[in-house]
Amino acid sequence: MELGRILFLTGAFATHALVGYALVRGFTDADPRLGVVFGLLPDVDFLFPAAVGWPFVHRGITHTPLFAVTVVVGCYALVRERAVAAAVVLALGSHLAIDSLSPKGIEWLFPLRTDWSPGLAVHGPTATVLLWTVSIGLLLWRVDARPSLR
Ligand SMILES: [Zn+2]
Repeated sequence: MELGRILFLTGAFATHALVGYALVRGFTDADPRLGVVFGLLPDVDFLFPAAVGWPFVHRGITHTPLFAVTVVVGCYALVRERAVAAAVVLALGSHLAIDSLSPKGIEWLFPLRTDWSPGLAVHGPTATVLLWTVSIGLLLWRVDARPSLR
């Protein structure tokens, strides 16, 4: 893999992890590390063997609302904690929201195939600085003064 691609992916992964962490810490009482785990979860598709094909490709099934709902329901069924479910919704939802704005987009209507996207450079320098600034601002926000999604 070329250096530019490695740096791009590192930045994208760090952004998804930070945004997920900040959202979970800012709006739930769940362990904010869940935001890192579930903020990165959709990109587990990078580990799928290339020979498998659709929908087990990058931006395939793990980048769909169907996958997100399945994970949220599965997590809630396992732990029965609303704060954990809220954390999973925020982290997974943030990943899908960010990626859906990118030129490649996501499959909102899976299993139907769509190719619509606003085509924004959400993992480019400007959007990355914006997402990191908002996330760090959220982390600096007074934790004790805010309502949570209990
Ligand atoms: Zn992704």
